[in-house]
Amino acid sequence: MPDRFYVTTTIPYVNARPHLGFALELVQADVLARHRRQRGDEVRFLTGTDDNSLKNVLAAEAEGLPTQDLVDRNAAAFEALREPLALSFDDFIRTSRDPRHRSGVERLWRACAASGDLYRKHYEGLYCVGCEQFYTEAELRDGRCPEHDTAPQRVTEQNWFFRLSRYQDRLHDLIESGRLRIEPAARRNEVLSFIAAGLDDFSVSRSQTRARGWGIPVPGDPDQVVYVWWDALGNYVTALDYAHHGPDYRRWWADSPRRVHLLGKGVVRFHAVYWPAMLLSAGEPLPTDILVHDYLTADGRKISKSTGVAVDPVDLVARFGTDPVRWWLLREVPRVGDADFTVEKLVDRANGDLADDLGNLVNRVVTMVHRYRAGRPPTGTGEPADAQRLTTASRHAPRLVAAALDAFDFRGATAAIWSVVEEANRFVEHVRPWQLSRAEGDGDLDAAANLDAALDVLVRACRALAELIGPFLPDTAGRIAAQCTPSAGRLPDPRPLFPKITASAR
Ligand SMILES: [Zn+2]
Repeated sequence: MPDRFYVTTTIPYVNARPHLGFALELVQADVLARHRRQRGDEVRFLTGTDDNSLKNVLAAEAEGLPTQDLVDRNAAAFEALREPLALSFDDFIRTSRDPRHRSGVERLWRACAASGDLYRKHYEGLYCVGCEQFYTEAELRDGRCPEHDTAPQRVTEQNWFFRLSRYQDRLHDLIESGRLRIEPAARRNEVLSFIAAGLDDFSVSRSQTRARGWGIPVPGDPDQVVYVWWDALGNYVTALDYAHHGPDYRRWWADSPRRVHLLGKGVVRFHAVYWPAMLLSAGEPLPTDILVHDYLTADGRKISKSTGVAVDPVDLVARFGTDPVRWWLLREVPRVGDADFTVEKLVDRANGDLADDLGNLVNRVVTMVHRYRAGRPPTGTGEPADAQRLTTASRHAPRLVAAALDAFDFRGATAAIWSVVEEANRFVEHVRPWQLSRAEGDGDLDAAANLDAALDVLVRACRALAELIGPFLPDTAGRIAAQCTPSAGRLPDPRPLFPKITASAR
């Protein structure tokens, strides 16, 4: 019975071009989506851009462009990550352009208003435009935003407020009971203590003047613009035609057993507190899983548009190829804790894992089948006794990969795959097919049978690896499968899977 699986990334502001930190989230979501599809589940993978931020307005002003022009240009750069990063998203929503979005945000607003959760209040607070968020004095670090290290603006205005306080107990129960699952546990505990400390109602609109006329007007109050986070969080359902409770909404949200959000640690509160409360208020189902990744640093500094440290994923792919970039993100970034990116680490990983371990294995196996069996992989040979570790690793790997991905542990999943690669290489060194071939040449019939069996096991291990690697490195997986699939009984001529790369490669 196929499951249904809906997975989303956050939608980034488009005030600058995409950086490697967001590529991490896209690639993680892509692996989850591909892995589910491979297992026969029905999958919908959504990403997009948050066009309605004041940050976009300010960036456009700085460049002397109309806001819509800047937003269109930068959003296109995000959508264009699809090819270089080999992403398989099914849908891409743009909050300023997509006709599904505004009507959906309006419906969500009206639903919360109908529950009595929206009210007007005079407000004074400290606002960080970088975060698009109010801070209390206590949350600031030396009077500055903890994310951006900038001084917040003091804002005074009449705003709409959302009665978040009303949902405190329900949210706590939902998260504590695991009905709303937050991974890793450290993030879940942070959210629980944040809720337990007491939830304040939050401002969900701002004046047209402060928004510079950019954004979605509040239904029934056109002097106010919907708070950009309210608008942005809504994308997870507006993209499914929540506005009309259309078939996609029922299929992928209301009736889907898994509704999974991926996000970075800086926006957990919005996704694990504000968003579920908005849905509770609107009477809609909540996400089932919130999977939180930490941040990347580059050469020891935080990657962020606002700190000016940006590593361009498109540039990395142009230099090193798609799969080395995906592989570094998946194999090296831990489930908990920040990871530091350097070009040298990417190069070392690609050369050590992909060129040496995996590339040599596949190339050796295909070459031996050609050299010893004229390209015809032996079949029906029975299992050689000393292949047990390899066959056990192959057999267990799919389950281990699935369990690791369910725990949002990409490093664990890639390690499970790598145990198969390592066992296969060990098996080659152990059985020494070249010696068996020499003995066979001397008329040793046992050696001939053992060589058949060894090549059979190895070709099957390579095919299993193609399958296992598919969600992680789709291109490499396709090339391994092609190398190990006979046509008219013969494998194609061996071709190196991965050339070594160097840090200075262009
Ligand atoms: Zn900030």
